[in-house]
Amino acid sequence: MRFFVLILLFSFSFLKSQKCYDLKTVLKVEASPLYKPHLLASQSFGIAILENGRSMDKYLASGQLQRIKKKSRGYRLQILEHSRPYLVKKAKTLLEAMGSRFATRTKSFFVVSSVTRTLEDQCRLRKVNRNASLGISSHNYGAAFDISYVRFDNNLKINTGLEKELEKVLEHYKNLGRIFYIKEKHQSCYHITVRNY
Ligand SMILES: [Zn+2]
Repeated sequence: MRFFVLILLFSFSFLKSQKCYDLKTVLKVEASPLYKPHLLASQSFGIAILENGRSMDKYLASGQLQRIKKKSRGYRLQILEHSRPYLVKKAKTLLEAMGSRFATRTKSFFVVSSVTRTLEDQCRLRKVNRNASLGISSHNYGAAFDISYVRFDNNLKINTGLEKELEKVLEHYKNLGRIFYIKEKHQSCYHITVRNY
């Protein structure tokens, strides 16, 4: 019996030590032309690709990554399953400014559905969402977040008026050179990467 327990423990720790990704392969995946500017922008904050919780801790300790508020004027943070509520300072500030601008124009709030993902988080996400990127993403560098376009004021339904207002806010910051954004139809969200402006 004891022998079996030992075998079990051994195989468990072996499985645990196995990475669910191969960094070399991940780094080799070529980004699409549309996505490339996002990746380059996210890599300009001096944060190395976040592999797991431990690599994040280092940047949290140095203050390069900061916790974002669950609730601020004009936005709410959804309960995060495959990402973590941390961003680089500029991205945090910009998210707050976007929320504030949106609230002033609409008296409503938008919902942030995803924030920073480590490569380990991304493996777990891929199990439930096959569209999740195989390679690296600007979410892996603490400079990107997603905003749902089907959930305003916590109501899960299409609201064309508020979606247009959100797009106006995004255009405003894009024209100021502060963000890149893409509409992601699979996830019903806007993917936003903050530039190192
Ligand atoms: Zn995204």
